Amino acid sequence: MSNPSCGCGHSDNTQTSAPESLTLTSTPANAEGTIGETAECPVMAGTPVIKAEAEAKGLYRDYEGQRYWLCCPGCGPKFDANPAQYAHAG
Ligand SMILES: [Zn+2]
Repeated sequence: MSNPSCGCGHSDNTQTSAPESLTLTSTPANAEGTIGETAECPVMAGTPVIKAEAEAKGLYRDYEGQRYWLCCPGCGPKFDANPAQYAHAG
């Protein structure tokens, strides 16, 4: 049973103790602006991340003046291990 909110296949479920009510599961396509700004996870390219939610969970990194939002706790260590690889430095 992996976290359904993250499709990147991470299996470390160390922080899944809090059962959140998934209020965003049935978000209509035109809800942009009501759920906050989104970004793309730099580790799992193509994975959308809601900035406010990521920040609330500590799933973000500030690197060289740029903030990056992560899709799940598993992406934090990956980003930390090689931020230059994930940061859009070019
Ligand atoms: Zn992830």
